[in-house]
Amino acid sequence: MMAQHRRRIERQLAGGENLERALAGLRMERTLADGYYAWAAHLFMLDSVRELGAMRPGFLDAAEIDGLAALRSARHQFAREHPPCPHCGAALYDRFAMSCETCQGQIERKRAG
Ligand SMILES: [Zn+2]
Repeated sequence: MMAQHRRRIERQLAGGENLERALAGLRMERTLADGYYAWAAHLFMLDSVRELGAMRPGFLDAAEIDGLAALRSARHQFAREHPPCPHCGAALYDRFAMSCETCQGQIERKRAG
């Protein structure tokens, strides 16, 4: 959870709002056309089928192959920018995070030199 969302929920809870209402207000605004999300959902489904080894050769069309390549590239970029917490494995807020928002564990950073 991003720090700004965490602070907002903490303020709402401190103001007496219940957790369910605070979380319901967290829904991310969509900034792209609905078709983009449907296409992304299709690619996630195809990737799951591929990971299970249940995909026949020649099953994918060229657009799906391009989409899966873009999905893989985006996942690698996300992993570089949000490395896993050494304590719980959750993705960190960024690669410079000093603590984990999930388990509150402190992240040790090696000093250069
Ligand atoms: Zn953690």
